Amino acid sequence: MSDTVLVVGAGPTGLSAAAGVASIGKKVVLVEKEAVLGGAPILSGYAKLVPSGEWAKDAIGRMVKRVEDNANVTIHKSTKVVKVEGEAGNFTVTLSNGQSVNVGSIILGTGFTHFDSINKPEWGFGTYEDVLTTTQMEQMVSSGKIACPSDGRVPERVAILLCVGSRDRQIGREWCSKICCTVSTNLAMEIKEISPQTDVFIYYMDIRTFGLYEDKFYWKSQEEYKTKFVKARIAEVTRSADNRLLVKGEDTLVKRPIVIPMDIVVHAIGMDPSEENPELAKVFGIGLEKHGFVEKGEQYTSSFSSTRRGIYVGGAALGPEDIDTSISHGLAMAMRAVGDMNALVQKAA
Ligand SMILES: Cc1cc2nc3c(=O)[nH]c(=O)nc-3n(C[C@H](O)[C@H](O)[C@H](O)COP(=O)(O)OP(=O)(O)OC[C@H]3O[C@@H](n4cnc5c(N)ncnc54)[C@H](O)[C@@H]3O)c2cc1C
Ligand code: SF4
Repeated sequence: MSDTVLVVGAGPTGLSAAAGVASIGKKVVLVEKEAVLGGAPILSGYAKLVPSGEWAKDAIGRMVKRVEDNANVTIHKSTKVVKVEGEAGNFTVTLSNGQSVNVGSIILGTGFTHFDSINKPEWGFGTYEDVLTTTQMEQMVSSGKIACPSDGRVPERVAILLCVGSRDRQIGREWCSKICCTVSTNLAMEIKEISPQTDVFIYYMDIRTFGLYEDKFYWKSQEEYKTKFVKARIAEVTRSADNRLLVKGEDTLVKRPIVIPMDIVVHAIGMDPSEENPELAKVFGIGLEKHGFVEKGEQYTSSFSSTRRGIYVGGAALGPEDIDTSISHGLAMAMRAVGDMNALVQKAA
């Protein structure tokens, strides 16, 4: 029997799980495939997070430091798990760096992959330089200057298209990505703050700024920052004769075609299952649900179980999730991993 916990993935979920397990006094082996810790907010360079308004590098940086400074946590960067043998309470795990560890429980915080807008070619990404994704636009916001990538001019109009790679049966993405409406209304306000002369339009099917986000982001961006909301179905993004972008579609409120010239078009990209999930399922011997996210074991009395005993899963590996919820999942998994391990040790005694 081992009472060490293996945590795979060092995004918000894995960092929270590692800190949770270590705080109960148990040892943690944390394995991250990239060379830096922090997950998507750091790897993709998010700007200010919703809803806190804190810079991602500061907020997630604190989570990274808490784990790095904890003597109970051993960190393996640029490393993957290649083999898992044994059972709950006594797994032998082989790492890609040649080391092998004996652990009692395994926590997966392996996250998601950003939707690749190349899969929506009719909306101009990859064809026109001034069509960007939300993460690229966030990097522009972080630089403090709003300008068209093609020629550096200050944009007169920016369009943000919601649900790119989400709620779209045509391309096999049926789910709502949960956070992109809120991220986009926040982005609209940030653009306006840096560039007051720019008008921001948000094209939407419907707005899902759930809970407390409704007034803080949706109403505020409309009432204080004059973001214009257009309920529309987008057909295509093309280029006009004067080198601007044309967003073509149907205004679904008045049921008429609309074409508005824009200077920058932003794709509010959604959350895909991690592209590593097929490999993950094989190595860890767990199931995937029909869209390709990790499958839950039982939901109510065995929360965060995968389909294999002793292996837990949470955060965006289970489906689209925000950071606060991912952090809660991490803590809940720490509790489950240690509780179940203790029960096995007591039974064996
Ligand atoms: C455009 C966009 C903007 C967003 N902005 C916000 C925001 O402002 N506020 C908010 O609350 N949420 C935001 N989110 C959601 C946020 O990104 C997620 O909630 C969060 O990243 C989920 O954390 P996670 O740890 O589960 O996954 P991730 O952040 O994806 O971290 C997973 C980690 O696991 C590692 N990993 C994966 N597979 C393996 C493996 N096999 N072995 C080892 N390591 C592995 C990865 O390298 C990564 O470091 C945004 C999402 C998008 C798409
Ligand atoms: S959160 Fe908003 S933009 Fe994202 S998929 Fe859901 S409805 Fe679309």
